[in-house]
Amino acid sequence: MYTFKELGIKKEFLEVLKKQGIKTPTAIQEMCVEHIINNKDIIAEAPTGTGKTLAFLLPMMNNMKPTKNGIQGLIITPTRELAIQIYEEIGKINCNNLNTMAIYGGRDYSKQLEDAKGSLDLIVATPGRLADFMKKGLIQLNLLKTLVLDEVDQILLMGFQKEVESILKDANKKRQTLCFTATLGSPVKKVAYKITKDPLVISVATEKNDDKMKKYLVETTDRWKVDALATMLNKTNPYMAIIFCRTKARVDKVEGRLEEKGYNVQKLHSDVPQVKREKIIKSFKKGEIQYLVATDVASRGLDITGVTHIFNLDIPEKAETYIHRIGRTARAGEEGETYLFVDPKDRRLLGNIEELLGEKLIKEIYDGEKDVINTNTIYAKKYNKKIKSRTEERK
Ligand code: ADP
Ligand code: MG
Repeated sequence: MYTFKELGIKKEFLEVLKKQGIKTPTAIQEMCVEHIINNKDIIAEAPTGTGKTLAFLLPMMNNMKPTKNGIQGLIITPTRELAIQIYEEIGKINCNNLNTMAIYGGRDYSKQLEDAKGSLDLIVATPGRLADFMKKGLIQLNLLKTLVLDEVDQILLMGFQKEVESILKDANKKRQTLCFTATLGSPVKKVAYKITKDPLVISVATEKNDDKMKKYLVETTDRWKVDALATMLNKTNPYMAIIFCRTKARVDKVEGRLEEKGYNVQKLHSDVPQVKREKIIKSFKKGEIQYLVATDVASRGLDITGVTHIFNLDIPEKAETYIHRIGRTARAGEEGETYLFVDPKDRRLLGNIEELLGEKLIKEIYDGEKDVINTNTIYAKKYNKKIKSRTEERK
């Protein structure tokens, strides 16, 4: 096993990492860091919660110095929440005082960008807003040294092709390109090959039947799902949990019903105004909200300490999405429980998920209780101590 120092990370970074309780590289970090420092292109796959962010941030920032010449580093993410999170991660390890910024939709940045012109070193952006700013001439990427596509499969295969194409058309062709995800299928690999040069393909395997993450299945019907969910919430009393639904309308409805039932709940989807989205994530991170009901806008990349449970109220269309949703818990070696609620008509999709996982979900019994309300008046007491000490440890 190598240390960060042996992998070529400078002393000043080691000190800030140590303060965050980060001492030894994870597998993906060990496999990537040195190659990224040496300017190799990389296509990498590693399970959720295993430190992919630092695997690219550390070597990238290790190689950068502030200049007034233009943007050297760009990280593209599929969601605003993930862009903000990575921007905050950068802030935590920014020992070279790089000028950084997060650029995403729902906010007006034109003025700041005019002011920052020529002095930005490293940016994190969502594809739509970035492509838009490039067209307006507010951002130039002609001197870009390193490009990262985090959650690369979602960026390249699920809806941002046009934006990415337009961004890459005007970006420096001699750049280094790095692609990361937890689910690297062959279709995405094929596209990733096209935008990289002689890439190193790295894969860290998922541990099968990993006992840190318990994966349960609750058989019910669409009609009784919310009662089945409430039954499981009462039974497990999560410290914090995310409840995933398929559509925005469904999120609205489920949030309303859970609120009526007495749960401490908020919602997140793309029609929630941006200022509110940021406020909700902030108070969720602080533990002020116990339950977050969300669409898949929350399924990628989010790293929120205290999320002990994931509930898939609606089965996702793609098996990969299930992997990302449940990956919001049991991160960085912690434990977590996940529940998937299925109606008889979901059998085919369930089969796909179990095939991708290479394991069967554990059946959990719902006895058909009706009109279930919140019975846990003492707010997640049993986890409180454990999580507190864990957060303290990190300081
Ligand atoms: P991924 O992108 O693989 O899903 P993240 O980069 O979000 O995972 O990291 C998950 C968590 O692990 C974060 O809270 C991060 O601070 C922590 N972490 C990252 N690298 C290390 C390390 N080397 N040692 C301990 N914790 C780490
Ligand atoms: Mg990540």
